[in-house]
Amino acid sequence: EMPLAEFDAELAGAIRDEERRQEDHVELIASENYASPLVMAIQNSVFTNKYAEGYPGKRYYSGCENVDVAERLATERVKALFDCDYANVQPHAGAQANAAVFLALTNPGDTVMGMNLAQGGHLTHGNPSNFSGRHYNIVPYGLDPETGLINYEEMERIALETRPKMLIGGFSAYSRRKDWARMRAIADKVGAIFWVDMAHVAGLVAAGEYPNPLPHAHVVTSTTHKTLRGPRGGIILAKGQGEDFYKKLNSAVFPGIQGGPLMHIIAAKAVAFKEALLPEFRTYQKQVVANARTMAAVLQQRGYKIVSGGTDNHMMLIDLSDKPYTGKDADTALSNAYITANKNSVPNDPRSPFVTSGIRIGTPAVTTRGFGIVECEQLAGWLCDVLDALELGASAEVASRVREQVVELCRRHPVYR
Ligand code: PLP
Repeated sequence: EMPLAEFDAELAGAIRDEERRQEDHVELIASENYASPLVMAIQNSVFTNKYAEGYPGKRYYSGCENVDVAERLATERVKALFDCDYANVQPHAGAQANAAVFLALTNPGDTVMGMNLAQGGHLTHGNPSNFSGRHYNIVPYGLDPETGLINYEEMERIALETRPKMLIGGFSAYSRRKDWARMRAIADKVGAIFWVDMAHVAGLVAAGEYPNPLPHAHVVTSTTHKTLRGPRGGIILAKGQGEDFYKKLNSAVFPGIQGGPLMHIIAAKAVAFKEALLPEFRTYQKQVVANARTMAAVLQQRGYKIVSGGTDNHMMLIDLSDKPYTGKDADTALSNAYITANKNSVPNDPRSPFVTSGIRIGTPAVTTRGFGIVECEQLAGWLCDVLDALELGASAEVASRVREQVVELCRRHPVYR
């Protein structure tokens, strides 16, 4: 067996550098997390070699008896986790789960209503450059510019006017609870399918820290690698919709948009779902929310605006639209201080999506590595120091001081080492 460093020094170097980066930088990208060592290890299993087109017990290849065990475990566990009666664990990622929902439940050209990407939606909810925006007539809904909250009256007005075939709940950047019952009522008024993409908050939902959309939605999708802390992947869930509906969803995934499922990832999903069913996972998610609240409070004390005025979940958007610098500038300055976040549009952002006037931060990753209230208070303070310096000067000095503090804090809370 030839070690990677000998066989491919370039790649081995990149992996080693990435290990160091993940250990020494603070990760505030709201969609990221650190999978457990077990979840990491299972992805390296021999299941990666197996073709298993079809579903457990009905495969197009022989030799599937062992991968069937893995897929059944993943399916049963995720159903228990979210209290539902249908699950498809095969989507390769969140975007594929979403593509399967479109394929199963709509026809190209249909009117579909989703949250405006510039106001917190996801690409697959109808962005013009995505398949969803190219093949469907998308009508966006968004936020009340005054409050930064979802404007349900406006959503209802648009729905009644445009009569969408499907209404999409879910988001990539929204720090409040969504009213699933209210959205279902709007969908029912116009006879639309109500689909929730809970990718960002799935871990919180599993732990009872965010409202579960399953009692309200016809169908729910998610990624497995964000707050849920599993391997990179997707799932589709539903409750009480009946076998015909579930068959449509299954055949949209395979043979609709995918070939062979990634059985090593499905096995890792099974392990992640088992972890998420443990009491420790609830404790973790409670801490994620408490840490986000703490960071929001520090930012506000220091004079920074949070879109919607705070957070009820794992993330928040810092509104920099009244600052002399951009979201991109802030992103770069924070990176220099080893704080990884991402620039993000704020509602009615005057700047382009490449520049933006906001920064999105989230606490799932730092909480996994053991940061609590004390560490998050410190961290939010340093983040403000870096942003302050963009206005007041001495950026380089502040960056180097914060970088040292960040590395020291990170070393006290190792991820894998
Ligand atoms: N849905 C939402 C709400 C997301 O935020 C994301 C990822 O950012 C996705 C779907 C897409 O997931 P993936 O990157 O796994 O395709």
